[in-house]
Amino acid sequence: MKFSKLSEYYEKLEATSKRLELVDILSKLFKESDDDEIGKICYLIQGRVAPFFEPTEIGMSENLAAISIARAFGSSKEEVIKSYRHFGSMGIAAQQLSQNSKFKVQSSKLSVAEVFERLHSIAKTGGEGSVEKKITILADLLNDLDSVSVKHVVNIPLGTLRLGIGDPTVLDALSLAKHGDKSLRPRLEGAYNKTSDLGFVAEAFFKKGIEGIKNIHLIVGKPIRPALAERLPSADEAVKRLGQEFAAEPKLDGFRVAVHKKGDEIKLFSRNLENTTNAFPDIVEGAKKEVKAKSAILEGEAIAYNPTTSEFLPFQETTKRRRKYKIEEMTKKLPLIMFAFDLLYLNGQDITQKSYKERRKLLSSIVSKEGQIIRLVEERTLHNAQEVAEFFNEAISQGLEGLMLKKLDSPYVAGGRGFHWIKFKRSQAGELTDSVDCVLLGVYSGRGKRTEFGAGGLLVGLYDDKKDEFVTVSRIGTGLTDEEFRKVNEIGKDIKVKHKPARVNSEITPSYWVEPKVVLKIYADEITRSPIHTAGRDKEGFGYALRFPRLMKFREADKRPEDATTVSEIEEMYKQQFVRK
Ligand code: AMP
Repeated sequence: MKFSKLSEYYEKLEATSKRLELVDILSKLFKESDDDEIGKICYLIQGRVAPFFEPTEIGMSENLAAISIARAFGSSKEEVIKSYRHFGSMGIAAQQLSQNSKFKVQSSKLSVAEVFERLHSIAKTGGEGSVEKKITILADLLNDLDSVSVKHVVNIPLGTLRLGIGDPTVLDALSLAKHGDKSLRPRLEGAYNKTSDLGFVAEAFFKKGIEGIKNIHLIVGKPIRPALAERLPSADEAVKRLGQEFAAEPKLDGFRVAVHKKGDEIKLFSRNLENTTNAFPDIVEGAKKEVKAKSAILEGEAIAYNPTTSEFLPFQETTKRRRKYKIEEMTKKLPLIMFAFDLLYLNGQDITQKSYKERRKLLSSIVSKEGQIIRLVEERTLHNAQEVAEFFNEAISQGLEGLMLKKLDSPYVAGGRGFHWIKFKRSQAGELTDSVDCVLLGVYSGRGKRTEFGAGGLLVGLYDDKKDEFVTVSRIGTGLTDEEFRKVNEIGKDIKVKHKPARVNSEITPSYWVEPKVVLKIYADEITRSPIHTAGRDKEGFGYALRFPRLMKFREADKRPEDATTVSEIEEMYKQQFVRK
């Protein structure tokens, strides 16, 4: 496919604000794509040249991009920046310059694969003199493209290609393109959950059809979408679900780490599937020495721990380790221990279909008993609510968050819930069973005293995983400090968009919309029904809303917007309120 063809699709995708249309346009694009380029196209429509978990960021600043644009079209950097300020978009600024340039290309001959390769080479360029090289590669590329392609390509190195295409939208469109309907989405999603790599899944599907998808297993080095836990209102309810015998582990309040090991090569991934290998050299060392397997993928909770007093440190301490700078210094100051709780892959085999009991046994056979850094999380076999309550109190008194109850015969379900794991938290003693992770959707400009902070309120939403859209659940206008309002404004400004994003379904219009990207932790007194919000709307037009919402944490750093609380979860939480009352 010529890149100019793909650009025509970029134009169409950019013009719609409806998800169904996005799916439709994408499926037409996919129908026109060859087996060899479908993977690349899947990355490019999300503005990338690799799956998102690979640290292949092209990452050019506005300044560098402006130099490239100027060089490509015989202009100056200052002129480009001026035009960028005028249009509010670097892509449009570049398009205008390209149109008026004597170097203008009418119809570009470059293929999708060629453009992909050149963008990829910008990402790979490092070391001495790399800045100049990056500028040159981008300038040459822009020089070979037609104006519409220029507009879109410029956004890729800047990370500002915001078509609002989520992974489930791509999966729907792949199914529609190849199969004529969306019925293969769940299977595609299954394969995606195991690899987190849209391009990889798309290529297997296009080349080998549904058989290609069935044969996708875990791959060391590709992150797995984590299994999730459900909530239940009482231990009795939990015991009913779990059977006569079940496992219980302390729920540690640190952060989740997936360790991928192949010989001495170790990669770490966070809960939101980012490659965090460089951030935690102590865990990498621990995994090398203390995990006895040729290859393995294991999961655990990393938590700061005081080995002298055998004390777990609170989350606020642990989270100080999540940083990009001064890593060595913090590693010494706040050593981490990873408490392993599951094994997904061992010596070449995907073992997610084995029962929890078997996986745990294999896990304990490869994690050294004398391990200093990688240890097994404690596990007890329990039988009734009384035992749950006792263990829960013990865990709480050790300063832990609560318990995880696990079904003994359950498989590991990548990306899924399903009552295989049930969480019991301290906060459950409160009114609501749990906090709600909301996505920031819009910002209200401040009035009166708050004018100076730029923000006076926020519009937040949940994720509807069935429709792959973000729906509104609350407006938050009080309970934030001045400092917090200022921060909201800072975050908002960075991700501000001109129109309501295609995947946002809202009947309320804030002062400005933002790209659904930032997850906030919210506490509320109660979940109510409301005609204003679109979360879980029924036939009468009533959705769910949060009563007396309070902002607890600014960013759930390790959650993607799609990891926010889902509509089905809020529905469950709503029902549980009545059970408790
Ligand atoms: P939540 O984020 O509240 O839904 O709880 C799920 C998270 O608890 C997981 O993603 C893990 O990071 C964490 N966790 C802590 N201890 C355990 C454990 N023993 N088993 C599984 N997950 C755990």
